Amino acid sequence: MLPIDNSSASDISSKNTEQAIYMKTMTCKQLYGSCDELIHGETAEEMIKNSQNHGMEMAAKGDQDHIQVMDSMKQGMNDPEAVKQWMEKFQTEFDAQPED
Ligand SMILES: [Zn+2]
Repeated sequence: MLPIDNSSASDISSKNTEQAIYMKTMTCKQLYGSCDELIHGETAEEMIKNSQNHGMEMAAKGDQDHIQVMDSMKQGMNDPEAVKQWMEKFQTEFDAQPED
């Protein structure tokens, strides 16, 4: 009689540890953009970066709403105090957002 191999059972349970990455999802609008595109990110910084990439992509396609958003964002960047306040406000909103 052959011995029963139980090693495959433990392999299944160890796979759950790979899901430790928590993504959050916000819309372009929540990021002060102008559409309902879903933006994903693990951190507030990543979320902002991804929303800027989306904004630049849409602006490059000639989307007037996003061109305006990107313009006003660029002007806001000249004021470090305003950027700091915006980041703090956004971090609070990001933290309040449920994980996917
Ligand atoms: Zn958008």
